[in-house]
Amino acid sequence: MAIVTLQPGKERPVTLRHPWVFSGAIARIQGNAPVRGEVVDVYAARGDWLARGCWSDESQIRIRLFTWNHNEPVDDALFRRRIERAVDGRRKLGMLTSDGACRLIYAESDGLPGLIVDYYAGFLVVQLLTQAMALRSAMIAHILAETLAPHGIYERSDADVRDKEGLPPASGVLWGEAPPRLLHVQLPGNIRHAVDLRAGQKTGAYLDQAFNRLRVAAHCAGAEILDCFCYTGGFTIAAARAGACRATAVDTSEAALNMLRDGLALNATTTPVETVAADVFQVLRRYRDEQRRFDVVVLDPPKFAHTHAHVERATRGYKDVNLLAMQVLRPGGILATFSCSGLVSSDLFQKVVFGAALDARRDVQIIERLTQSPDHPVLLTFPEGEYLKGLICRVW
Ligand code: SAH
Repeated sequence: MAIVTLQPGKERPVTLRHPWVFSGAIARIQGNAPVRGEVVDVYAARGDWLARGCWSDESQIRIRLFTWNHNEPVDDALFRRRIERAVDGRRKLGMLTSDGACRLIYAESDGLPGLIVDYYAGFLVVQLLTQAMALRSAMIAHILAETLAPHGIYERSDADVRDKEGLPPASGVLWGEAPPRLLHVQLPGNIRHAVDLRAGQKTGAYLDQAFNRLRVAAHCAGAEILDCFCYTGGFTIAAARAGACRATAVDTSEAALNMLRDGLALNATTTPVETVAADVFQVLRRYRDEQRRFDVVVLDPPKFAHTHAHVERATRGYKDVNLLAMQVLRPGGILATFSCSGLVSSDLFQKVVFGAALDARRDVQIIERLTQSPDHPVLLTFPEGEYLKGLICRVW
């Protein structure tokens, strides 16, 4: 096994159990140059053993650490223990039910950097996002099959981050049956959804919002709601179930809006829902100018900030869309606003919403703060795992 020695003074994050070693922290490598995904030992400059992890020869994150215990090899047994622990955590949350859906393995937060596994009514969808995970796909599929006895395991490693690892996109059946084109799942609050595991966004659904939809729905009885960036209508369907009198759902994806209509049919709601395939910014400007007003507006945009360099531009985008949303709200209405950009902190996000309120000349009260659902836990040694923040605001 190759030995990687860090630069003097670069051991602190490792001793604090942060799981990433950047290329700039590395002083030298002894032994044969590690191959992609191979296990390496990490030493401090003064010579003490620190941790063990997997090598990546393309990413700036050169090593993902898997253990700080010298006696623990990074082998199949370690993967099996970590996978079983992650699954047990979701079972204890009551989220692993036969027709339900939840995130079973959330990468670094579950001690498995680069591995995402989502459960959808007996099917597993896997993302292998690092060289180490790509190398071990067969072993991981084998352990998952033994642990969960699913109908099938489907790979959706078509995320952009694979680029940084020098890995091409990959998708297809890893084990067992292929999922049907449309699968029905039961989400928290007895909400039924149609999901497309093979072609839908992410692994098919935004599971991180499952409980937040119910928190927002609590304000929707008798209300006219505008669901911006609705995807397959998670917020719209929850609002309809809670007795919204009318809903308008906006997304640029026609495919997502079709699935929203499938979802509405599954939930047998009577709320009239208008779907609008268009850019949210343009739609909001038009409604503002036409004096069209709503009681509840949901803003759940895609990630605006992908790198530190994009944070400023992202905050301008959040500010604009929040300002527009406030302008189409009736006095006393509810704004449920989210950001899933990990690089935009909750403090910064609150400041952005503050800026929008000033420009809109509205009094805005935070009545609830929201985060990602509990099947996306945040490991204390890896705060980067926290990315979703939401504010439910009363806008006077
Ligand atoms: N609210 C959804 C998840 C939203 S994900 C849920 O609860 O499941 C973000 C969505 O924004 C995606 O569906 C994407 O198609 C859409 N989108 C991205 N840019 C957009 C734009 N400018 N206007 C409208 N929709 C957009």
